[in-house]
Amino acid sequence: MADFPLPPGSTIGILGGGQLGRMLAMAAARLGFDVAILEPGPVSPAGRVSSLEICADYDDEDALEQLAASCDVVTFEFENVPAAALKTLAGFGTEVAPGPKALAFTQDRVEEKRFLVAHGVDTVAFEAIDSAEDIPAALERLGAPALLKTRREGYDGKGQAWVKDAGEAAAVFAAIGAKPAILEARADFVRELSVIAARGRDGQVAVYPMGENRHAGGVLRTTTAPAAVPDITRDRAIEIAGRILEGLDYVGVLGVELFELADGRLLVNEIAPRVHNTGHWTQDGCLCDQFEQHVRAVAGWPLGPTEARCAVEMENLLGADAERWAEIAAEPNAVLHLYGKGDARPGRKMGHVNRVKPLR
Ligand code: AMP
Repeated sequence: MADFPLPPGSTIGILGGGQLGRMLAMAAARLGFDVAILEPGPVSPAGRVSSLEICADYDDEDALEQLAASCDVVTFEFENVPAAALKTLAGFGTEVAPGPKALAFTQDRVEEKRFLVAHGVDTVAFEAIDSAEDIPAALERLGAPALLKTRREGYDGKGQAWVKDAGEAAAVFAAIGAKPAILEARADFVRELSVIAARGRDGQVAVYPMGENRHAGGVLRTTTAPAAVPDITRDRAIEIAGRILEGLDYVGVLGVELFELADGRLLVNEIAPRVHNTGHWTQDGCLCDQFEQHVRAVAGWPLGPTEARCAVEMENLLGADAERWAEIAAEPNAVLHLYGKGDARPGRKMGHVNRVKPLR
């Protein structure tokens, strides 16, 4: 096992080679670390900026052994890496952060909500669904319409469909792939907010100001930060983040998506055990962004400052949006972040832009 804090010159491994891995790798490089990526697809966004790219499936034992031999610590950029991969790495004596507990609770929407409720964190009412026959009774308890989501592997609104009445149960269950699911009561929210927080190896916790998020078609379009929220909302979000970080015995950065209700209450929609799209604003709004913060945490360094130095409006560049790069680059207060992806498929996250303004 490695000795923490890891000195510059150590190597950080990342499972996953997408844009989050890329921005983690760039932050790690700035602190003098080398980065190794394990990613199934060839020429990944993260692989292009890292010193080693291993192109193999996440459950490829030889690839995991090579990663373990190359790295002092391993982290991941998305939560759907197989739990077995973490176990295999641990078997080679490699430290993985965040640990298997964080992955276990966040890979399954039902387990995640049960964990939250057990730790005194509010969520929408929900029921586990194993077959279409479970839906009518659950719908009766939760009220219609309710949102059916696959328990595992859903993201950006994929694997989700509304159930308006019991007669639609079979069709909607089939539409999400007839997989184990969760049925959620509809959250009557006024805003979607999020909070990005980190916990270090010594248990130190750091929380960024909240972001206000706008989605379209289940995909994040913009984050405005710091969100204008009453102190009580901010305090509650800090408390929620703290409970989750402690409960998961967490090391690293975590994103928490929240629904704000008309009466000011916050419900947790989802936890992401990784750097998060709603935290991209920190790159140009804070001295230590979420990517550096995650690197610091997993490397056992002290956590960095989280207060906002300016206000930021982050806009995701999806598909052809990224063709506006020259226009955006000419804006005086915009910082362009592109992910080095070749194929601008509709809806694909190609980059983002942070537009900065003075703090109000
Ligand atoms: P998720 O994949 O769980 O993050 O959901 C994607 C988006 O769907 C969220 O950002 C919300 O806009 C919406 N959504 C998810 N769950 C609910 C819910 N229970 N009630 C109302 N809207 C929801």
